[in-house]
Amino acid sequence: MSLLITNIAHGWTGGAAGTRFSGAIRIEGQKIAAIGDLAPLPGEEVIDASGCVVTPGLVNTHHHLFQSVMKGVPAGMNVPLDDWLAHVPYRLWPLLDEHTFRISARIGLAELALSGATTVCDHHYIFSSQYDYDPAAVLFEEAARLGLRFVLARGGMTRGRSFTDPDMPPAPMETLTGFLDGISRAASLWHDPSDMAMTRVACAPATPNFNFDAQALPEIAREARRLGLRLHAHLSENEAYARQTLRDFGLRPVPWLAQKDWLGEDVWFAHLVDLSPYEVSLLAETGTAMAHCPQANARLGSGIAPAAALHAAGGTVSLAVDGAGANEAAGMGMAMYTAFALHRAAHGVEALRPQTVLHWATQGGARTLGLGGTGLLAPGMAADITLFDLGSPACFGLHDPALAPMICGPLQVRHSLVAGRPVVQDGRLPGLSLPDLGLAAAEATARLARRKEAIPA
Ligand SMILES: [Zn+2]
Repeated sequence: MSLLITNIAHGWTGGAAGTRFSGAIRIEGQKIAAIGDLAPLPGEEVIDASGCVVTPGLVNTHHHLFQSVMKGVPAGMNVPLDDWLAHVPYRLWPLLDEHTFRISARIGLAELALSGATTVCDHHYIFSSQYDYDPAAVLFEEAARLGLRFVLARGGMTRGRSFTDPDMPPAPMETLTGFLDGISRAASLWHDPSDMAMTRVACAPATPNFNFDAQALPEIAREARRLGLRLHAHLSENEAYARQTLRDFGLRPVPWLAQKDWLGEDVWFAHLVDLSPYEVSLLAETGTAMAHCPQANARLGSGIAPAAALHAAGGTVSLAVDGAGANEAAGMGMAMYTAFALHRAAHGVEALRPQTVLHWATQGGARTLGLGGTGLLAPGMAADITLFDLGSPACFGLHDPALAPMICGPLQVRHSLVAGRPVVQDGRLPGLSLPDLGLAAAEATARLARRKEAIPA
């Protein structure tokens, strides 16, 4: 059985060179069989791409799906990162029962799928003995329900952050052994090392400089590599992170982690906002990748990560939305436009081309997650494909319609495929009622607010 996407006038391969194509894509099984001037075979299923831009499915390399019911929390709206952490995730995590968490994951995944994402990585760092459910299992179930590729960056912490408020709930801590056992268990259940895996696990301490003893970091890296897992963490989200690491350890974060065996082509960090030029070159030389989160960094006033500089130095850059508690607009279309606009605002119009943003959101993301069989439209690659609809006023009047997904803001997705199977069909997610999800979301946020009020402040 094969499938033909035909009448493609505006196609991007997703490669760094910004290569375009037109014609048709033939899909056989889970892979792309051919691209070019192809006519339908007798009995072949056909998807008409007229009026669409065709790209690889978008890849989100860093998220916190538990925060999708924590958007716009008033106490966290106008405060910087540390206060936001205290008021939002660290305040609310104990109140998440399984149903609320499941609804939260479903909201975030639906938003991503409808924005053109086909691969999602969630950095989940709350594994508490207080929970009577396994958050990892819920995340994999919800991603499978929509048909998305899913990478769990299995997080955790052995030390909490110190906040000034004495009434803060304790952080969801594990022992180092408990954390490593949790990683190993998740890997045994869900880790597929193949380069077109539908499910993957990475080893992802929340924030190395705050949440773990420094001497544990080499052991964590060794254990992850023994299990064949990639390493991920938050790093240098703002100037205060970098300053604290310099003060406590005598080095800036990237050279400090180099000493801990925490750089390499199997490592990626979220944020990397505050980097020295030397740190940029160290990341590029070692192949350590960046999950660039332009919106969360803007929303929290943290700054603009030197993603374009890392890209120019030959490094690997990917795009991510980060948790919706600190970036209420958690779709990939908005993330692409924000990256495009911010780098040009800060560094001039030469700073970033639209096709480079698309590369970050596709092949850059696939490389970052080690899913090298995805993220690029070429024969032999996975059939992860997104068709962006040009039928909205934002796209009318364009001289080069192929640029629309990167320069016109979020677009409607007409269709998307993961491994040749439909995810978005005619702009909808089959089997998921958005009005019902909206009602469940309203109930979930109301429940969280009630529980929060029941706790003495
Ligand atoms: Zn994050």
